[in-house]
Amino acid sequence: MKESFSLNALLRDNIKNLVPYSSARDEFKGEASILLDANENAFGSPYSRNYNRYPDPLQHQLKDKLFQIKGVPSSHIFLGNGSDEAIDILFRAFCEPGKDNVILVPPTYGMYEVSANINNVGYKKVNLTRDYQLDLDGIAAAIDAHTKLIFICSPNNPTGNSIRRQDIETILVNFDGIVVIDEAYINFSKQASFTKDLAEFPNLVVLQTLSKAWGLAALRLGMAFASPDIIAVFNKIKPPYNINQATQEIVLEALQGVEQVNEWIKSIVVERDKLTQDLSLIAEVDYVTPSDANFILVKLEEPRALYTYLVEQGIIVRDRSKVELCEGCLRFTVGTPAENSRLLRAVQAFYVDVNSANNA
Ligand SMILES: *Cc1c(COP(=O)(O)O)cnc(C)c1O
Repeated sequence: MKESFSLNALLRDNIKNLVPYSSARDEFKGEASILLDANENAFGSPYSRNYNRYPDPLQHQLKDKLFQIKGVPSSHIFLGNGSDEAIDILFRAFCEPGKDNVILVPPTYGMYEVSANINNVGYKKVNLTRDYQLDLDGIAAAIDAHTKLIFICSPNNPTGNSIRRQDIETILVNFDGIVVIDEAYINFSKQASFTKDLAEFPNLVVLQTLSKAWGLAALRLGMAFASPDIIAVFNKIKPPYNINQATQEIVLEALQGVEQVNEWIKSIVVERDKLTQDLSLIAEVDYVTPSDANFILVKLEEPRALYTYLVEQGIIVRDRSKVELCEGCLRFTVGTPAENSRLLRAVQAFYVDVNSANNA
């Protein structure tokens, strides 16, 4: 159990003193038969289902269902309009613009830096090591009195590997700010989720999302797991009705499909490992980073020309070849078996063409 942590010392003063917006449905709890409090249209909606009433601001039903699936009680759950909302709220809660800073460990997810810039919060970059692990000494040296957040993505995007658990724990124990662990890809990994460790670390925020393994990217549902005190801060800052009723209904129904999702995860992991093997056999492929996610980072020859060639074939991948520590790399999301074999054949065909052009 971590002792040296004070949430109050970390919060911005305006957030500490904030009186949150109180919605009509916050104040009244119980069964009402006539709702004349929120200026809604009592006649209904011009649609086959009624959406004329404001939704539950705290999404109780959804959180109960997530408790069943993830074993994390509702009081430890915040739901946002994608993980991006949770990331933005972290900045607004803890980082005084123009004064505080956060630590980023690139190459990693780009949204942390964008969100820092939107909020006019400084960041210090401490690159991952060559094997895409944390530079603990570098991070320790970068922390100063104004460092409020450290973002760690594990499994990491765009590299695909998991960050060593021991190293993350070292930071959780020694850093008195908030440690954010982004587990967007945890379903594809054999690593245990840090949601199991919330009781031990009061400075821990775990991010997950329904956008990847759960196949619900279009609904925009991100999750943050943390102590009830931190969750209360999130709830104070968020727009009152940040998860719309349609999303709440559809997600509640979709969460019944956990068996289907687990089947897909198994297939994706099999396909990922097969694609890794098959690509490694191509002479022009230098290296495939072992992945714990649903994508692979591949270092190969002429990445930009290959990228353009794939686009011409109607295959869109992510060009990371100019990103520091990912030089020469493309990132391939694992698709269906048919999509993956088309990708593989296109990559093979590209290098056959290049080689015959060079030999002509
Ligand atoms: C895709 C991704 C997310 C998901 O964001 P949403 O806003 O929930 O769709 C979060 N973090 C990382 C690292 C990602 O790659």
